[in-house]
Amino acid sequence: MKVASILRSGAFALVAACATIALWTPGSASAAAPFAKEAAPGFYRIMLGDFEITALSDGTVALPVDKLLTRTTPEQVKKTLAKSYLQSPLETSVNGYLINTGDKLVLVDTGAAGLFGPTLGRLVANLKAAGYQPEQVDEIYITHMHPDHVGGLLAGDKPAFPNATVRADKHDADFWLSQANMDKAPADSKGSFQGAMAAVNPYVAAGKFKPFDGDTDLAPGIKAKAARGHTPGHSIFIAESKGQKMVLWGDLMHVAAVQFENPSVTIQFDTDSRPAAAQRKKAYAEAAAQGYLVAGAHISFPGIGRLRSQGDGYVWVPVNYVPTR
Ligand SMILES: [Zn+2]
Repeated sequence: MKVASILRSGAFALVAACATIALWTPGSASAAAPFAKEAAPGFYRIMLGDFEITALSDGTVALPVDKLLTRTTPEQVKKTLAKSYLQSPLETSVNGYLINTGDKLVLVDTGAAGLFGPTLGRLVANLKAAGYQPEQVDEIYITHMHPDHVGGLLAGDKPAFPNATVRADKHDADFWLSQANMDKAPADSKGSFQGAMAAVNPYVAAGKFKPFDGDTDLAPGIKAKAARGHTPGHSIFIAESKGQKMVLWGDLMHVAAVQFENPSVTIQFDTDSRPAAAQRKKAYAEAAAQGYLVAGAHISFPGIGRLRSQGDGYVWVPVNYVPTR
């Protein structure tokens, strides 16, 4: 029908726009505006059935992934990164996820606050930019107690989420909140224990820390599933509403450009890298087979997408942008 004429009018609009651009010559009228620097607020929204999911950026941190990744070589890591036009140190996202079930406001992981350098600690500001207040958060589910996941529990020395109950697997609590474990840990990892204790203990003292043990229903439509290896009590969380499913992976993987292609590659942050790799492979296979949404704490923000298998590895398929209405 009128496709040709629509195309013609579209082409006309384009030609007109180009003509306008051609008339404007830079630098002739006034001084250049200073760079505005800040990107858009770090939140991203997607509906999952009746649940509203808001990805919250805590910021990014430059990681020397060529040195951190194990069961590979720095040369191999650099080569693989280059295929995705990336290099080490790699700007790595730190993401938390806010789930509004309609009845409850649940935050999965809290970012680092001040525990992981000056480029992180933006999660609460982004939560506010997204239209929520920390006081509204009912429950916080922690995938594991590394500083970039629990640090944001605190604002200064006070709970950042004063009305929230914190849930995490008891195996992680027993490990990271143990003074004896900290005492026997090597000097360079004592900080992780200190960070976990500083962040979680105020909630313990207030009677607002409720550990769970392995696979557990936490709220209608949200459950925890044990995925141990990265840490002794590492958990993933499964959110389901109206037949739609999202699995929040925490730190099942860290470097998308390397570990989707080769799930066997591990990272120094793993407490026990062999089961960490096994859990990753299992999660990838299931996600690719079922086609559900995945949210990764360290996948480039917003870190939400799906997996497609390809050869021996997988390809990350980021979500399409759809404004929520
Ligand atoms: Zn992490």
